[in-house]
Amino acid sequence: MKAAVLYGKHDIRIEDIPLPELRDDYRLVKVAYCGICGTDVHLYNGDEGSVKMVPKTVPGHELSGILADTGERVTVDPNYFCGVCENCLANRPHYCKNIFNTGVTVNGGFAEYVLAHNSQIHKIPKNMSLLDAAFSEPVSCCVHGADLTCINDTDRILILGMGTIGLIMLQICISAGAAYTAVSEPVETKRLKAQKLGSDGVFDSNIITMEKLRKCNFNKIIECSGNIHAVKTAVEACAVTGTVMLFGLTHPEDEISIMPFDLFKRELTIKASYINPNTMSKAIRMITGGQINVQSLVSEIISLEELPSYLADSSNKLKNGKVLVRL
Ligand SMILES: [Zn+2]
Ligand SMILES: [Zn+2]
Repeated sequence: MKAAVLYGKHDIRIEDIPLPELRDDYRLVKVAYCGICGTDVHLYNGDEGSVKMVPKTVPGHELSGILADTGERVTVDPNYFCGVCENCLANRPHYCKNIFNTGVTVNGGFAEYVLAHNSQIHKIPKNMSLLDAAFSEPVSCCVHGADLTCINDTDRILILGMGTIGLIMLQICISAGAAYTAVSEPVETKRLKAQKLGSDGVFDSNIITMEKLRKCNFNKIIECSGNIHAVKTAVEACAVTGTVMLFGLTHPEDEISIMPFDLFKRELTIKASYINPNTMSKAIRMITGGQINVQSLVSEIISLEELPSYLADSSNKLKNGKVLVRL
């Protein structure tokens, strides 16, 4: 079968590789769509994602497809949880001792077929297209982040960074009934998207001042850019008793300094969110229920052969919105 194999930094090759070998409790999924995630760009650039890439692995973890044996339409949770280790039993499945990550540590969705454990497979409803289904994983990660942020109807929420993740998070916050939502983003086209999707406030992060942000009294700030300066802004701008959610993936070596006295005076909570424990079903429901419009996030659909040049050129095309590979 045709697959994109990541050999190492800046070295991805389209190759013919053997079909995955079927094992007990596993199914073969014929891939329909696989989204290119910011994590794939990090991995391509030799950086670490949520976990370290295993060399000579097929990346791609945002996928939908058809079960090779029954023809049922599915999406795949890229993270396998064993269900019986101490972390799984303690309701921390995302720290499963036997975890593997499809598209990072084992072969993923930038291929004609992918092998998935039965527990990773989610059948999708009739009214969900395979294109929409490829968004289930990124939405499920945002659902976990939003759950941890405990959004309620008095919240004034600021979201930093309007890439695909920021735009999904915005929609989750709106559907969760937040009193007021605002976004901060340097790129005009992305600000316009946020406005269309219903953000109450839209700020240009190049010109918005800390003074203005503080006046807005945001008690929940969700950082979705992974830019370390935005992380600082989030902590500095948050209102008293507020929560800062660090959602965007920063560079592993990035640092900010924090004054405990300042956190004490503002009674601030700083949280982070790691992958998607048991949130795939909710994500599928939110997409099919219309709370999250994923179609508006698609910027381009490309072929597998085009993937290497897109990853090499990630400075521009991949930043316009979600690019998906159609298999
Ligand atoms: Zn991803
Ligand atoms: Zn486990």
